Formats: sequence, structure tokens, C-alpha cells
Amino acid sequence: MTFEPTVAPDSRPIRVRIAPSPTGDPHVGTAYIGLLNYLFAKQRGGKFVLRIEDTDRTRFVATSEHMIFEALKWVGLTWDEGPDVGGPFGPYRQSERTEIYREHAEILLANGTAYRSFETAEELEAMRQQQIAAKTPPRYNGAHRHLTPAQIDAYLAEGRPYTIRLKVPENTSTTFTDELRTAITFDHNNVDDQVLLKSDGYPTYHLANVVDDHLMQITDVIRAEEWISSTPKHVLLYNAFGWDLPRFWHMPLLRNVDKSKISKRKNPVSLVFYQQSGYLPQAMLNFLGLLGGGMAQPTEAEIVSKGLNTKEGDIFSLPEMLEKFDFKRISLGGPVFDLVKLKWLNGEYLRKLTPDEFFAALRTTILSDDYVRAIAPLVQARMETLGQFGDMTSFFFSDNISPPESVWLPKKRTFEETVAFAAEQLTALEAATWDATSIESALKTLGEAKQWSVKENFMLLRAILTGSLTSPPLTESLVVFGKSRSLDRLRRFLETQKKLANQRK
Ligand code: GLU
Repeated sequence: MTFEPTVAPDSRPIRVRIAPSPTGDPHVGTAYIGLLNYLFAKQRGGKFVLRIEDTDRTRFVATSEHMIFEALKWVGLTWDEGPDVGGPFGPYRQSERTEIYREHAEILLANGTAYRSFETAEELEAMRQQQIAAKTPPRYNGAHRHLTPAQIDAYLAEGRPYTIRLKVPENTSTTFTDELRTAITFDHNNVDDQVLLKSDGYPTYHLANVVDDHLMQITDVIRAEEWISSTPKHVLLYNAFGWDLPRFWHMPLLRNVDKSKISKRKNPVSLVFYQQSGYLPQAMLNFLGLLGGGMAQPTEAEIVSKGLNTKEGDIFSLPEMLEKFDFKRISLGGPVFDLVKLKWLNGEYLRKLTPDEFFAALRTTILSDDYVRAIAPLVQARMETLGQFGDMTSFFFSDNISPPESVWLPKKRTFEETVAFAAEQLTALEAATWDATSIESALKTLGEAKQWSVKENFMLLRAILTGSLTSPPLTESLVVFGKSRSLDRLRRFLETQKKLANQRK
């Protein structure tokens, strides 16, 4: 199917982007927003851009960018421009564009819509503490808005570091339109004088995001609802530069089944988890396409003529999404990232595979050469016949490990303290880098702090991960099993115990 190019209201060709920050594992939300942008661009003969927003150096994770590319490709998305494929508006990695942001901050200084603020970190902290004590919302008090040119020159001559802040116009308001909502008006008195350029010369998200969206000629900003609160600052920035606004589409946030914002506490949110646990990419993409309700459900007539049952209306491919997905249908109700539904869909897709495809799916995921090759050395020295391989490694190939209390509960510990300690293990492992040494030291640090012996500590985790008290070396097994799957197993163990404890009450 081909789509005629359409244009934005100001006659520009459609260009959209996703702008993930490489701060960890690729998030399902990135693929969700990626899919929406992809559909929007392709349905309009436009371009889909991938930009990496890596200017927050404190949260930067070096391996993350590559993982984001791989995860998006895994679900079947491709992009027209990006750091890996290039394009006419590069570089597409913000850390390679710092000069551009500095120049743009200078433009705002020159036209009077931004100013230098010379306060030290300690002065700003003192200001914040005073405001907290006075129960007023913490924000910059605007003191350096009014420095005289002579004061500014004196500070500069002293070599004092400074940030550049947006001079938010006082006592007025601005209205912008969100394409999925009605007009949104914000009172400038509620908008802080946002830092645009930090004293280390790095831009904040707001400056870099707006400058890039403008320079990359983005016509439609389609992103998650959590950014709606940043949009007033962005609109003020567009105004300060004298640039036209893009259209904004803020997509409903994904939710857990209990309607809270999707979080790794309740659901695995890493695409790597789904890939490693044997979900099919086409099922994942279909599932993401269902969220938000942009796909028209089959009409009564179609249900009857094609003999569909209602659930089959939920199964569709990327070409079908391109044909039928309608942005105006999106409902703001908060789509639920429902694992039961995803599993059901995945099962449907598994059953559609030919035997050869099914075998290939196994051999590229949970029975891949790489995976088996990584497991083999963990058990080689412990085996007498090759036939024992399955006995010693079954936990690597199982989805559901539920050891009985007799296995995981240490003799000298109570149920409550053990479950509480396992929850601490989860927190410690979440923060750990995923190699054997880091895992071991994270666990040992925790054990020392909570007075759990190394043996009790490791045995508990071994029981939870493998279902048994004898297993190949624990930390190496955790590494091979993977971070997201190991954490998920531990999380599911905790959930089961919580349920059991509630039943006993
Ligand atoms: N870097 C932001 C993120 O991590 C981009 C948000 C936006 O699309 O403006 O999602």
C-alpha cells in the first residue's frame, strides 16, 4: 500500500521523531511511542527520525544506545534518519551538537529572552531550603534577571561560572493546542525560569529538544503524556526564538493493571526481557498497536462476513496498522500494559508459525547457540554424562520456578524477614552492573548491612532463581540468565509470597 505525501498545516512535509535518552535498558514505552511516530510518518509519506538525547551525563549508560537500536529493530521498526543511518539534519546524537545549543543560548541572551544566573549551587540550595521552610513552591527567585551590565561584566571578569536561564514573561499566559485534547492555557507565573544551558556548557533537555526539533524540521511532536508539563517551557522557547510551533500530540501513558503508571516494580518494562523470554516481535508490535485504541475495531458486518470472534479483531500486522490506525481514535483513558493479553496474543502468533518457523523461533531465542554456549561451561565440570545437561540447567529454560518454602526458607530465619531480605536483594540487584563481580559485591554489601551470612544470602537467591539449593555457580548463572529475567523471577517470587502471606491472614 502506498500513501500520498501529505503536509503539515504550514505546507511542510511531515517529519516526526522519537528522542530516547540512553539511560538503561530499552523501555517498552519507547517502542510504543516509536510505533506511533512510525505509523504517523508512513501514513503521510513523511520521515521518521531517531534522535539520541544523551546530554544528561549523570544518567548516561554507554551500552544503552546500541540496545535501543537493536530493540526497535527487533520489533520491526526502521527509521529514515538517525545516528546509525545518518541523514541531512545530523548529527543525531545530542552530545555531538553541544556547540549548536551554546550558539542558540547566546541568541536568546542577545535578544533579551534569557539571562545569565551566577548563583552557586550552595546559594541555590539555600534558596530552596528557605522556600521549603516558608511552604512556597521551590523555584528560582529571579534575582539575577535584573543584574546591570556592569555587574554582569564584573562577574564574568571574575570568571564566575553561570547558567543561562529562560526569562519567562511575567503576569501573562500562553495557550497551546494538543491535537488530542482541547487548548491548554498556562499562567507564566507558574513557570520557573528554566535553566537552558548548564555551567558545564551542556544544555538541559528543554533547550536541546526544542532547538533540535526546530532544526530537524519536525512538524509533529508525538510523545508520551508525561512531557505535557514540559510543553509550556517549550512553547515559551519557540516564542523566544521567534519560531513556529510544531503540532503536539501527547499520547496516553501506559499503565499497570491497577492503573498506576507503568513501572518496573509491577511489570517488566525492558524490551530485552520480552525478547529473551521468548515473545515474538510481531506479537509485541501488535500489542503495542492495540494500546491507545487507535485501531478501528471490526464492524458488525465484518465480524459476520469474515466469521471473526471479537478477540480476532485485536490481531493485526504492521501493514494493517498502516492502513487502519487512526490517530483521532486514540482514547486518553490510559492503556493498560496487560501481560495476560500480551501472552494470549503471543500464543496466537506462535500457533500461526509453520513448524520450521517455530523451530527457528526457538533456535534464535531460548535455544540459541549463544545462550546454550554460555550455559555449557557452567556445568561441564559437574557432569558425568551429557544426558545430565537438562537436569542441571532446566531453570535456564523454564519460565515458572516456584520453590516450596522448605527449599528457600533458611532454618534460622522467619518467613517475614526472609521475604523482606529477598526484596532488598531485588533492590540491590536492580542497581547492580550485570557482571559476576558487581553482582557478588552488591549482594555481599547488602548481606553485611543486614547481617545475613554469605551462605544464607546466596542460598536464598539460588533457591529463588533455580528452584534448588544445588546449582551451577550462582553469580555466573545470573549473568547468563540476564538481568531483566533474573529480576523478573525475583519479583514474581516476592509477589507469590505476598499473596500467600495474605491468604494466611
Ligand atoms: N529525551 C526524552 C525522552 O527520554 C524525549 C521526550 C520528547 O520526546 O520530547 O523520552
